[in-house]
Amino acid sequence: MNEQWMNLSANVPQWLSDCRPYAKDGKAAAYIPALAAAPADALGVSILSADGSIIAGGESGMLFTMQSISKVFTLLLALIDNGEEAVFSKVGMEPTGDDFNSILKLELVEPGIPFNPLINAGAIAVTSLIGGASPDEKTERVLAFMRLMAGDDSLDYNRSVSESESATAYRNRSLAYFLQENGVLSPHASVEEVLSVYFNHCAIEVTCHHLARMGLILAHGGFDPLTERQLVPRRYVQIAKTFMLTCGMYNASGEFAIRVGIPAKSGVAGGILAVVPGRYGIGVVGPALNSRGNSVAGIRLLETMSVECDWSMF
Ligand code: GLU
Repeated sequence: MNEQWMNLSANVPQWLSDCRPYAKDGKAAAYIPALAAAPADALGVSILSADGSIIAGGESGMLFTMQSISKVFTLLLALIDNGEEAVFSKVGMEPTGDDFNSILKLELVEPGIPFNPLINAGAIAVTSLIGGASPDEKTERVLAFMRLMAGDDSLDYNRSVSESESATAYRNRSLAYFLQENGVLSPHASVEEVLSVYFNHCAIEVTCHHLARMGLILAHGGFDPLTERQLVPRRYVQIAKTFMLTCGMYNASGEFAIRVGIPAKSGVAGGILAVVPGRYGIGVVGPALNSRGNSVAGIRLLETMSVECDWSMF
């Protein structure tokens, strides 16, 4: 067992207690009604290393929905299904500096394709590229991919969270119809069907352990050190991690890169998937969000761990 792992293992309980109080500076997302009831003061972490050792603490076993974290994996699946050229004819590669659900640049900038696959407009475009004959088949394919990456066949989506989002998704519906008008979604696509797959994959329920397992595979370029199988082509994982670094933490991605310096993706249910390249996968949950939509206590915890263990890539 190396020194860094021993340092983490000895200190994670203390760092969790130090960071938990920051949750009071944020609040759980309420624009999706089913998310508002999350325990705002929860904080959990799971860190998984290539030899299968785990460090976990706090509410690491709590179930929460992936929300935007799912977008990393739908991007990978769309790349596997269609290849790079087809995917990047429908979505760009640049950060926006705008809110995750902004419609602004779709009209301001030519061509009217979304700036990147991690903002809502881009993720909806990516979802439309996932193979499958029906929305149910597409949802099943996304679930199968998530189960493979998480190493858990029981992973599923939460129907009531998906329905709750659908019932109030005025903004995402606007984005999706706008994308169809711009020719990003095919004129033959049913916008409602694309959206139903999108809401379902956002509502996939995980624990910190699942995220750590998924992150471990990303940390090793698509190779799963625990089963010794290459699950995703290395090039696609490289693309996904680059988007995580440049756009994964909404419009606080630059600050996160400076303070923490590793690829990560957050979701509005308070989860964060983080990757220490070549080493660990990390799952964090803390439902209280700051004004940018990131877990307040979760970011503190990742910053503490990164500084203490010198994880920054820069
Ligand atoms: N399902 C959420 C939405 O589309 C995901 C947002 C997020 O986690 O950033 O609004």
